[in-house]
Amino acid sequence: VYPPRFLEELKNKINLSDLVSKKVALKARGKDFVGLCPFHNEKTPSFTVNDIKGFYHCFGCSAHGDIFSFLMETEGLSFKEAIEKLATDNGIDLPKLQKSEKGEEERKEIETLLMINEKACCFFESNLYKKFGLSGLNYARKRGLEDRDLKKFRIGFAFDDFNMLRDFLKKEGFSEAEILEAGIAGGEKGKLYDKFRNRLMFPVIDKRGRVIAFTGRIIDDGMPKYMNSPETKIYHKGDVLFNYYFARKSIYDEKYAILVEGNLDAISLSINGVENVVAPMGTAITENQLLSLWKATDEIVLCLDGDEAGRKASARISKLVLPLINANRNIRFAFMPDGKDPDNFIKENGKTAILRVLKRSPVFIRIFMA
Ligand SMILES: [Zn+2]
Repeated sequence: VYPPRFLEELKNKINLSDLVSKKVALKARGKDFVGLCPFHNEKTPSFTVNDIKGFYHCFGCSAHGDIFSFLMETEGLSFKEAIEKLATDNGIDLPKLQKSEKGEEERKEIETLLMINEKACCFFESNLYKKFGLSGLNYARKRGLEDRDLKKFRIGFAFDDFNMLRDFLKKEGFSEAEILEAGIAGGEKGKLYDKFRNRLMFPVIDKRGRVIAFTGRIIDDGMPKYMNSPETKIYHKGDVLFNYYFARKSIYDEKYAILVEGNLDAISLSINGVENVVAPMGTAITENQLLSLWKATDEIVLCLDGDEAGRKASARISKLVLPLINANRNIRFAFMPDGKDPDNFIKENGKTAILRVLKRSPVFIRIFMA
Protein backbone atom coordinates (compact mmCIF):
# COMPACT_ATOMS: atom_id res chain seq x y z
CA VAL A 1 0.00 0.00 0.00
CA TYR A 2 2.88 2.37 0.74
CA PRO A 3 5.04 3.20 -2.28
CA PRO A 4 8.39 1.33 -2.48
CA ARG A 5 10.15 4.73 -2.51
CA PHE A 6 8.85 5.43 0.99
CA LEU A 7 10.01 2.03 2.26
CA GLU A 8 13.49 2.76 0.87
CA GLU A 9 13.43 6.13 2.61
CA LEU A 10 12.66 4.45 5.94
CA LYS A 11 15.47 1.96 5.40
CA ASN A 12 17.89 4.78 4.63
CA LYS A 13 16.89 6.93 7.59
CA ILE A 14 16.68 4.23 10.25
CA ASN A 15 19.75 2.35 11.38
CA LEU A 16 18.87 -1.30 11.81
CA SER A 17 21.32 -1.56 14.72
CA ASP A 18 19.52 1.28 16.57
CA LEU A 19 16.24 -0.54 16.20
CA VAL A 20 17.64 -3.92 17.19
CA SER A 21 19.58 -2.56 20.17
CA LYS A 22 16.29 -1.61 21.83
CA LYS A 23 15.75 -5.34 22.29
CA VAL A 24 19.16 -6.95 21.98
CA ALA A 25 22.48 -5.90 23.52
CA LEU A 26 24.81 -5.46 20.55
CA LYS A 27 28.58 -5.32 20.32
CA ALA A 28 30.49 -3.97 17.32
CA ARG A 29 32.56 -6.52 15.44
CA GLY A 30 34.17 -5.30 12.23
CA LYS A 31 31.49 -3.94 9.91
CA ASP A 32 28.82 -5.84 11.85
CA PHE A 33 27.20 -5.85 15.24
CA VAL A 34 26.68 -9.11 17.12
CA GLY A 35 24.41 -10.17 19.95
CA LEU A 36 22.30 -12.95 21.39
CA CYS A 37 19.62 -13.96 18.90
CA PRO A 38 16.11 -12.86 19.92
CA PHE A 39 14.61 -15.63 17.78
CA HIS A 40 16.19 -18.67 19.39
CA ASN A 41 17.74 -19.61 22.71
CA GLU A 42 21.51 -19.29 22.81
CA LYS A 43 24.40 -18.58 25.16
CA THR A 44 26.99 -17.41 22.63
CA PRO A 45 26.05 -14.68 20.14
CA SER A 46 25.39 -15.78 16.56
CA PHE A 47 23.03 -12.94 15.64
CA THR A 48 24.66 -10.33 13.36
CA VAL A 49 23.42 -6.94 12.19
CA ASN A 50 24.84 -5.12 9.17
CA ASP A 51 23.81 -1.48 8.86
CA ILE A 52 25.25 -1.01 5.37
CA LYS A 53 23.13 -3.80 3.96
CA GLY A 54 20.28 -3.17 6.36
CA PHE A 55 20.03 -6.88 7.15
CA TYR A 56 20.26 -9.05 10.24
CA HIS A 57 21.17 -12.70 10.07
CA CYS A 58 21.41 -15.46 12.66
CA PHE A 59 23.95 -18.19 12.03
CA GLY A 60 22.21 -20.36 14.62
CA CYS A 61 18.62 -20.39 13.41
CA SER A 62 18.92 -18.65 9.99
CA ALA A 63 16.59 -15.82 10.99
CA HIS A 64 17.13 -13.12 8.38
CA GLY A 65 15.51 -9.82 7.55
CA ASP A 66 15.39 -6.03 7.66
CA ILE A 67 13.87 -3.28 9.83
CA PHE A 68 10.35 -4.29 8.82
CA SER A 69 10.64 -8.00 9.46
CA PHE A 70 12.43 -7.35 12.77
CA LEU A 71 9.46 -5.38 14.07
CA MET A 72 6.95 -7.80 12.59
CA GLU A 73 8.68 -10.78 14.24
CA THR A 74 9.49 -9.24 17.61
CA GLU A 75 6.24 -7.32 18.09
CA GLY A 76 3.83 -9.43 16.09
CA LEU A 77 2.89 -6.58 13.75
CA SER A 78 1.63 -6.77 10.18
CA PHE A 79 3.84 -5.29 7.43
CA LYS A 80 1.66 -2.19 7.28
CA GLU A 81 1.67 -1.75 11.05
CA ALA A 82 5.45 -2.13 11.18
CA ILE A 83 5.87 0.60 8.55
CA GLU A 84 3.58 2.95 10.44
CA LYS A 85 5.26 2.32 13.78
CA LEU A 86 8.73 2.90 12.31
CA ALA A 87 7.64 6.15 10.72
CA THR A 88 5.89 7.49 13.85
CA ASP A 89 8.68 6.43 16.24
CA ASN A 90 11.25 8.20 14.07
CA GLY A 91 9.29 11.34 13.30
CA ILE A 92 8.92 10.59 9.61
CA ASP A 93 5.71 11.69 7.89
CA LEU A 94 3.60 8.93 6.40
CA PRO A 95 2.59 9.50 2.78
CA LYS A 96 -1.16 9.82 2.25
CA LEU A 97 -2.59 6.49 1.18
CA GLN A 98 -4.56 6.59 -2.00
CA LYS A 99 -7.39 4.22 -1.51
CA SER A 100 -8.92 5.20 -4.80
CA GLU A 101 -11.04 2.78 -6.77
CA LYS A 102 -8.29 2.72 -9.36
CA GLY A 103 -5.75 1.46 -6.82
CA GLU A 104 -8.13 -1.23 -5.68
CA GLU A 105 -8.75 -2.28 -9.28
CA GLU A 106 -5.05 -2.54 -9.96
CA ARG A 107 -4.47 -4.60 -6.83
CA LYS A 108 -7.13 -7.06 -7.98
CA GLU A 109 -5.62 -7.20 -11.45
CA ILE A 110 -2.20 -8.04 -10.02
CA GLU A 111 -3.70 -10.70 -7.79
CA THR A 112 -5.39 -12.28 -10.82
CA LEU A 113 -2.15 -12.28 -12.82
CA LEU A 114 -0.34 -13.97 -9.94
CA MET A 115 -3.11 -16.54 -9.66
CA ILE A 116 -2.98 -17.37 -13.38
CA ASN A 117 0.78 -17.83 -13.25
CA GLU A 118 0.46 -20.03 -10.16
CA LYS A 119 -2.25 -22.19 -11.73
CA ALA A 120 -0.26 -22.49 -14.96
CA CYS A 121 2.81 -23.50 -12.97
CA CYS A 122 0.87 -26.30 -11.23
CA PHE A 123 -0.52 -27.36 -14.62
CA PHE A 124 2.95 -27.58 -16.18
CA GLU A 125 4.34 -29.41 -13.16
CA SER A 126 1.68 -32.09 -13.22
CA ASN A 127 2.07 -32.56 -16.99
CA LEU A 128 5.55 -34.02 -16.51
CA TYR A 129 4.06 -37.09 -14.91
CA LYS A 130 1.25 -37.65 -17.39
CA LYS A 131 1.38 -40.04 -20.33
CA PHE A 132 1.78 -37.22 -22.87
CA GLY A 133 4.48 -35.65 -20.72
CA LEU A 134 6.94 -38.49 -21.04
CA SER A 135 8.99 -36.71 -23.73
CA GLY A 136 9.34 -33.73 -21.37
CA LEU A 137 10.37 -35.90 -18.44
CA ASN A 138 12.91 -37.73 -20.60
CA TYR A 139 14.37 -34.41 -21.75
CA ALA A 140 14.60 -33.18 -18.15
CA ARG A 141 16.48 -36.37 -17.21
CA LYS A 142 18.83 -35.85 -20.16
CA ARG A 143 19.66 -32.41 -18.77
CA GLY A 144 20.52 -33.97 -15.42
CA LEU A 145 17.41 -32.84 -13.56
CA GLU A 146 16.32 -35.27 -10.89
CA ASP A 147 12.94 -35.42 -9.17
CA ARG A 148 14.08 -33.28 -6.26
CA ASP A 149 15.34 -30.57 -8.69
CA LEU A 150 12.09 -30.63 -10.65
CA LYS A 151 10.19 -30.22 -7.41
CA LYS A 152 12.39 -27.51 -5.91
CA PHE A 153 12.48 -25.29 -9.00
CA ARG A 154 8.90 -26.21 -9.92
CA ILE A 155 9.93 -27.27 -13.41
CA GLY A 156 7.15 -28.53 -15.67
CA PHE A 157 6.20 -29.34 -19.22
CA ALA A 158 4.02 -27.60 -21.82
CA PHE A 159 2.37 -30.15 -24.13
CA ASP A 160 2.77 -29.88 -27.88
CA ASP A 161 -0.79 -28.59 -28.07
CA PHE A 162 -2.48 -25.28 -28.88
CA ASN A 163 -5.27 -25.19 -26.33
CA MET A 164 -4.80 -27.43 -23.29
CA LEU A 165 -3.54 -24.69 -20.98
CA ARG A 166 -6.07 -22.19 -22.32
CA ASP A 167 -8.93 -24.62 -21.70
CA PHE A 168 -7.61 -25.49 -18.25
CA LEU A 169 -7.42 -21.82 -17.21
CA LYS A 170 -10.88 -21.08 -18.58
CA LYS A 171 -12.24 -23.98 -16.59
CA GLU A 172 -10.55 -22.47 -13.53
CA GLY A 173 -12.70 -19.40 -14.06
CA PHE A 174 -10.34 -16.93 -15.76
CA SER A 175 -11.57 -14.79 -18.64
CA GLU A 176 -9.87 -14.70 -22.04
CA ALA A 177 -8.83 -11.11 -21.43
CA GLU A 178 -7.13 -12.10 -18.17
CA ILE A 179 -5.36 -15.05 -19.77
CA LEU A 180 -4.07 -12.80 -22.57
CA GLU A 181 -2.92 -10.20 -20.06
CA ALA A 182 -0.87 -12.84 -18.24
CA GLY A 183 1.15 -13.38 -21.41
CA ILE A 184 0.91 -17.14 -21.58
CA ALA A 185 -1.58 -17.21 -24.45
CA GLY A 186 -1.39 -15.57 -27.85
CA GLY A 187 -4.06 -14.62 -30.39
CA GLU A 188 -7.13 -12.56 -29.70
CA LYS A 189 -10.45 -12.92 -27.93
CA GLY A 190 -12.27 -15.99 -29.24
CA LYS A 191 -9.07 -17.30 -30.88
CA LEU A 192 -6.70 -17.78 -27.98
CA TYR A 193 -3.91 -20.34 -28.29
CA ASP A 194 -1.17 -21.64 -25.97
CA LYS A 195 2.11 -19.82 -26.55
CA PHE A 196 4.40 -22.31 -24.85
CA ARG A 197 4.32 -25.67 -26.61
CA ASN A 198 6.55 -28.74 -26.41
CA ARG A 199 8.78 -26.98 -23.89
CA LEU A 200 10.33 -27.72 -20.54
CA MET A 201 8.92 -24.92 -18.38
CA PHE A 202 10.88 -23.03 -15.72
CA PRO A 203 8.88 -20.59 -13.61
CA VAL A 204 10.37 -17.17 -12.88
CA ILE A 205 9.93 -16.71 -9.14
CA ASP A 206 10.09 -13.32 -7.44
CA LYS A 207 11.77 -12.45 -4.14
CA ARG A 208 8.63 -13.43 -2.25
CA GLY A 209 8.39 -16.87 -3.84
CA ARG A 210 5.61 -16.03 -6.28
CA VAL A 211 5.52 -17.22 -9.90
CA ILE A 212 5.52 -14.12 -12.13
CA ALA A 213 6.54 -15.46 -15.55
CA PHE A 214 8.00 -18.46 -17.39
CA THR A 215 10.93 -19.40 -19.52
CA GLY A 216 10.48 -22.43 -21.77
CA ARG A 217 13.18 -24.57 -23.42
CA ILE A 218 12.08 -26.45 -26.52
CA ILE A 219 12.75 -30.18 -26.17
CA ASP A 220 13.50 -30.86 -29.84
CA ASP A 221 15.13 -28.89 -32.70
CA GLY A 222 12.24 -26.41 -32.99
CA MET A 223 12.72 -22.66 -32.83
CA PRO A 224 13.11 -20.52 -30.89
CA LYS A 225 15.21 -22.55 -28.47
CA TYR A 226 14.12 -20.42 -25.51
CA MET A 227 10.89 -18.51 -25.08
CA ASN A 228 10.12 -16.09 -22.24
CA SER A 229 6.88 -14.55 -21.05
CA PRO A 230 6.38 -11.00 -22.32
CA GLU A 231 6.47 -8.14 -19.83
CA THR A 232 3.29 -7.79 -17.78
CA LYS A 233 2.11 -5.75 -14.81
CA ILE A 234 3.90 -8.22 -12.51
CA TYR A 235 6.96 -9.03 -14.63
CA HIS A 236 9.60 -6.47 -15.62
CA LYS A 237 12.50 -8.43 -17.01
CA GLY A 238 15.13 -5.74 -16.42
CA ASP A 239 14.45 -5.90 -12.68
CA VAL A 240 14.30 -9.66 -12.18
CA LEU A 241 17.21 -11.78 -11.03
CA PHE A 242 16.38 -15.34 -11.99
CA ASN A 243 16.91 -17.85 -9.14
CA TYR A 244 17.40 -15.12 -6.50
CA TYR A 245 14.68 -16.62 -4.33
CA PHE A 246 16.61 -19.90 -4.03
CA ALA A 247 20.08 -18.33 -4.02
CA ARG A 248 19.50 -15.73 -1.29
CA LYS A 249 20.52 -17.82 1.70
CA SER A 250 23.58 -19.22 -0.01
CA ILE A 251 24.66 -15.72 -1.14
CA TYR A 252 24.55 -14.63 2.48
CA ASP A 253 26.43 -17.72 3.72
CA GLU A 254 29.10 -17.63 0.99
CA LYS A 255 29.40 -13.81 1.13
CA TYR A 256 29.35 -13.46 -2.66
CA ALA A 257 26.96 -13.92 -5.55
CA ILE A 258 27.70 -15.58 -8.87
CA LEU A 259 26.08 -13.94 -11.87
CA VAL A 260 25.76 -16.06 -15.01
CA GLU A 261 24.31 -14.93 -18.33
CA GLY A 262 21.94 -17.79 -19.11
CA ASN A 263 19.07 -18.43 -16.73
CA LEU A 264 19.33 -22.16 -17.20
CA ASP A 265 23.06 -21.98 -16.40
CA ALA A 266 21.91 -20.77 -12.98
CA ILE A 267 19.78 -23.90 -12.50
CA SER A 268 22.61 -26.10 -13.71
CA LEU A 269 25.14 -24.65 -11.25
CA SER A 270 22.59 -24.83 -8.47
CA ILE A 271 21.75 -28.52 -8.95
CA ASN A 272 25.48 -29.25 -9.10
CA GLY A 273 26.02 -27.79 -5.65
CA VAL A 274 26.82 -24.11 -6.36
CA GLU A 275 23.69 -22.41 -5.07
CA ASN A 276 24.64 -18.73 -4.74
CA VAL A 277 23.97 -18.10 -8.41
CA VAL A 278 21.57 -15.79 -10.25
CA ALA A 279 21.02 -14.70 -13.88
CA PRO A 280 19.23 -12.02 -15.90
CA MET A 281 16.14 -13.01 -17.86
CA GLY A 282 17.36 -13.59 -21.40
CA THR A 283 18.66 -10.03 -21.73
CA ALA A 284 21.94 -8.26 -21.14
CA ILE A 285 22.74 -7.55 -17.49
CA THR A 286 21.36 -4.19 -16.33
CA GLU A 287 22.50 -1.61 -13.81
CA ASN A 288 19.35 -2.28 -11.75
CA GLN A 289 20.21 -5.95 -11.46
CA LEU A 290 23.77 -5.24 -10.36
CA LEU A 291 22.63 -2.69 -7.77
CA SER A 292 20.00 -4.99 -6.31
CA LEU A 293 22.53 -7.82 -6.08
CA TRP A 294 25.04 -5.54 -4.36
CA LYS A 295 22.39 -4.90 -1.72
CA ALA A 296 22.63 -8.57 -0.82
CA THR A 297 26.41 -8.89 -0.92
CA ASP A 298 29.60 -6.87 -1.42
CA GLU A 299 30.98 -9.17 -4.03
CA ILE A 300 29.66 -10.31 -7.39
CA VAL A 301 31.53 -12.84 -9.47
CA LEU A 302 30.50 -12.57 -13.07
CA CYS A 303 30.82 -15.98 -14.68
CA LEU A 304 31.25 -15.63 -18.45
CA ASP A 305 31.55 -18.02 -21.38
CA GLY A 306 35.13 -18.60 -22.40
CA ASP A 307 34.64 -17.44 -25.98
CA GLU A 308 34.38 -14.33 -28.12
CA ALA A 309 30.84 -13.64 -26.89
CA GLY A 310 32.02 -13.83 -23.29
CA ARG A 311 34.82 -11.34 -23.95
CA LYS A 312 32.42 -8.96 -25.68
CA ALA A 313 30.05 -9.18 -22.73
CA SER A 314 32.88 -8.39 -20.31
CA ALA A 315 33.78 -5.25 -22.27
CA ARG A 316 30.18 -4.07 -22.16
CA ILE A 317 29.74 -4.82 -18.46
CA SER A 318 33.07 -3.17 -17.57
CA LYS A 319 31.72 0.11 -18.89
CA LEU A 320 28.52 -0.40 -16.93
CA VAL A 321 30.17 -1.18 -13.57
CA LEU A 322 32.96 1.37 -13.72
CA PRO A 323 30.93 4.25 -12.21
CA LEU A 324 29.23 1.89 -9.74
CA ILE A 325 32.04 0.08 -7.95
CA ASN A 326 33.26 1.18 -4.53
CA ALA A 327 34.49 -0.35 -1.27
CA ASN A 328 31.19 -2.17 -0.74
CA ARG A 329 30.63 -3.08 -4.35
CA ASN A 330 33.22 -5.41 -5.85
CA ILE A 331 32.97 -7.38 -9.03
CA ARG A 332 35.20 -10.07 -10.51
CA PHE A 333 35.21 -11.41 -14.04
CA ALA A 334 35.69 -15.15 -14.42
CA PHE A 335 35.93 -16.83 -17.82
CA MET A 336 35.22 -20.51 -18.29
CA PRO A 337 38.28 -22.25 -19.79
CA ASP A 338 38.41 -23.71 -23.32
CA GLY A 339 35.43 -21.86 -24.73
CA LYS A 340 33.03 -23.61 -22.33
CA ASP A 341 29.88 -22.16 -20.82
CA PRO A 342 29.16 -22.53 -17.07
CA ASP A 343 26.64 -25.32 -17.69
CA ASN A 344 28.91 -27.67 -19.63
CA PHE A 345 31.96 -26.72 -17.57
CA ILE A 346 30.40 -27.77 -14.26
CA LYS A 347 28.88 -30.91 -15.79
CA GLU A 348 32.28 -32.02 -17.12
CA ASN A 349 34.51 -30.83 -14.29
CA GLY A 350 32.36 -30.58 -11.17
CA LYS A 351 31.81 -28.09 -8.38
CA THR A 352 35.37 -27.86 -7.04
CA ALA A 353 36.80 -27.08 -10.47
CA ILE A 354 34.37 -24.25 -11.18
CA LEU A 355 34.88 -22.75 -7.71
CA ARG A 356 38.62 -22.77 -8.37
CA VAL A 357 38.11 -20.78 -11.60
CA LEU A 358 35.80 -18.32 -9.81
CA LYS A 359 38.13 -17.77 -6.85
CA ARG A 360 41.11 -17.22 -9.11
CA SER A 361 39.39 -14.43 -11.03
CA PRO A 362 40.89 -10.97 -10.51
CA VAL A 363 38.82 -8.14 -9.03
CA PHE A 364 37.63 -5.64 -11.54
CA ILE A 365 39.88 -2.77 -10.58
CA ARG A 366 42.96 -4.86 -11.33
CA ILE A 367 41.79 -5.77 -14.82
CA PHE A 368 41.01 -2.15 -15.44
CA MET A 369 44.43 -0.91 -14.39
CA ALA A 370 46.34 -3.61 -16.22
ZN1 LIG B 1 18.82 -17.33 15.95
